[in-house]
Amino acid sequence: MKKIFAANWKLQKTPLESKSFCEEFLASIDSNFFSDKEVFIFPQNYSVGLVSQTVKGSKISVGPQTVHFEKSGAFTGENSAELAKKFGCDLVLLGHSERRQFFSETNQALAKKVTLCESLDMLPVFCIGESLSERENNQTESVCFSQLDQGLSSADKNKRIVIAYEPVWAIGTGKVATPEQVKDIHAKIFSHMNSLGFKNFQILYGGSVKSDNAGILIQIPHVDGFLIGGASLEPQSFLQICQAK
Ligand code: PEP
Repeated sequence: MKKIFAANWKLQKTPLESKSFCEEFLASIDSNFFSDKEVFIFPQNYSVGLVSQTVKGSKISVGPQTVHFEKSGAFTGENSAELAKKFGCDLVLLGHSERRQFFSETNQALAKKVTLCESLDMLPVFCIGESLSERENNQTESVCFSQLDQGLSSADKNKRIVIAYEPVWAIGTGKVATPEQVKDIHAKIFSHMNSLGFKNFQILYGGSVKSDNAGILIQIPHVDGFLIGGASLEPQSFLQICQAK
């Protein structure tokens, strides 16, 4: 199975900076590059259109960092999944912990977003993960499972979905989950997704992934790739992570 390397640029990069990133990244890879991996980019919303134009014809997939759960209508300030699809996006990042934490995104709203993305043939990259206090209270598993149960309650079990396990305490903090912690929770998420009946899913790890820890983390069973914030902002740093085997 191909490994997935996904870049989350949050509020960083103008459209032109995003375009130059893609040009430099594409100029640095050879024709075999995508034989064993997929690359996803989630640019800041102003840049999604230009990034998707820039990478057209390459194998990089692009998507917004969130969408509204209605396909269209009077929802000032929201992102339209349908429009993103029209200009070439085939993925959407959903349920990032910053969306859950700062924008009160609920699993119920996320369930509607998953359904909408699937109806448009856009691949959901669905984030889950526990806070530090939840981990300290031994709630890691129950938090992740309930995010999956509720957020994917109406998902089509035959369609492909990508889960990104991101412990909130490891995002942007420089603290990486230990290989043992990653191994343990990824195995549990894998079994849980199987028990829910999902047939085609991959599980990414996210949280302070850098080129110096990617090589160890990528070898852990059921780690199918990474969701990367800070270290995905420079083409060469992202490229080094994409080369982890
Ligand atoms: C993220 O934004 O999803 C993330 C994992 O960020 P970082 O790699 O900077 O921890």
